[in-house]
Amino acid sequence: MIDSGAFRRRILCWYGRNKRDLPWRESTDFYRVWISEIMLQQTRVEAVIPYFHRFLRRFPSLEALAEAPEADVLTAWSGLGYYSRARNLHKAAKIAVSSGLPSSYEEILALPGIGPYTAAAIASIVLGEAHAAVDGNVVRVVSRLTNGLGEAAGEAQRLLDTRRPGDFNQAMMELGATVCVPPTPRCAVCPVISLCAGRAAGREAELPVKTAKPAPRDVAVDLVILMKKNEVLLIRRSPSEKRLAGFYELPELKVFPELKPESVGFFTHRIVNDRFLVSVWRAVIGRKPASDGYWFSEEQLTKIPLTTITRKALHSAHNFPGGTALDY
Ligand code: SF4
Repeated sequence: MIDSGAFRRRILCWYGRNKRDLPWRESTDFYRVWISEIMLQQTRVEAVIPYFHRFLRRFPSLEALAEAPEADVLTAWSGLGYYSRARNLHKAAKIAVSSGLPSSYEEILALPGIGPYTAAAIASIVLGEAHAAVDGNVVRVVSRLTNGLGEAAGEAQRLLDTRRPGDFNQAMMELGATVCVPPTPRCAVCPVISLCAGRAAGREAELPVKTAKPAPRDVAVDLVILMKKNEVLLIRRSPSEKRLAGFYELPELKVFPELKPESVGFFTHRIVNDRFLVSVWRAVIGRKPASDGYWFSEEQLTKIPLTTITRKALHSAHNFPGGTALDY
């Protein structure tokens, strides 16, 4: 069993000296920590940083977020993906404004879009509550520390420093993100190497034992940038489509069999187990085709929620005026 006292001392000391300078670590303000934790779900730190700054500029307070139209929130989130996070964040902001900020782990967990990991991270950082935050990074670290013998959630809770739970949770996440990384941990610079059973057994690189993932399914898609002067045609996703309701996207080429488009780009985009092979086409027309859709100028494109695939498609199309200026 790991010596929990020695472990806490070492990891907290290491964290104090080595933690990355991240914008959400500037304070333990509930709103800032909450936004960051939601954005960081399934998204890399480097990708989140510019969105975090922009989102806080656009919605500087919980009240500003609660009062904003959902389309504005989705626009600010546009490009980060997993849009149910933005919808739930918006719903939760309205609840928190009308009922008051949550004051315990249980109250945080009751908000839309917040699971045990996020609730534990927020409750420990903002409220100082002793809940271990256990995500994939922490599971990997604990699995290696215990040589695969410990149950991750229970062991993380046992190791938790109850006097500094917020710092401890962030230290564990930081260790997993920067030192105890997959596939090859950087044990030579690890502050807890002398306490690590996985390393002592020479099994650190093979832990945690993974279950085989199914191979990705390739899905070919042809999208068309249909232009009329300097406007582009976009389709609006129906309100009944839960995940992308209200988002705008490029139409598929097959909707316009009469077109003779030119090829302007290609990229791949992964969503869970689907790998989309996206070919981007462009055609200029003189009059509106018989199709549902809305025309947007280049300037308007930056003010509406676009699906990530549409942003990438516009960006990848070098011939599209302003395409390379789109910030996705
Ligand atoms: Fe991870 Fe290596 Fe540190 Fe063990 S010694 S916790 S395997 S980085």
